[in-house]
Amino acid sequence: MLRWSDVIKYAKYSNPEPPRRVEKTEDEWRAQLTPAQYRIAREKGTEPPYRNAYCRSYEPGVYVCIGCGSRLFDSATKYHAISGWPSFTQPVAKNAIRYAFDGSHHMQRIEVLCNVCDCHLGHVFPDGPEPHGLRYCINSESIRRVDA
Ligand SMILES: [Zn+2]
Repeated sequence: MLRWSDVIKYAKYSNPEPPRRVEKTEDEWRAQLTPAQYRIAREKGTEPPYRNAYCRSYEPGVYVCIGCGSRLFDSATKYHAISGWPSFTQPVAKNAIRYAFDGSHHMQRIEVLCNVCDCHLGHVFPDGPEPHGLRYCINSESIRRVDA
């Protein structure tokens, strides 16, 4: 299980090796994604809190990347974080996610991206529930729930 110290180490030094890579041109991404998905997943946008698909949804399944279909989060790790966005405590695998320091909006945050196709997912914070203390705060537009 990942801890905050692992996240910092990945963001600072090097991320885990992805299981595969998917790379597309911006035109290909625009053709594949809806405008809202493109703005968030490829231009690092943020959807409005609460008014998004998965904030209050707790049905079982696996959340996959909107860009490449890679498995990112299991519904068993989803919890109610009162943030307005779907929140998870752990990714499905250590190498599912890539981490990067993000100094935008006058904040110091750690961005989380799909490790396979670099779609922007959201951010991770060290204020999640015990025992590992991580809160992956994810945009609904960047993910899609499928049956496990
Ligand atoms: Zn992806």
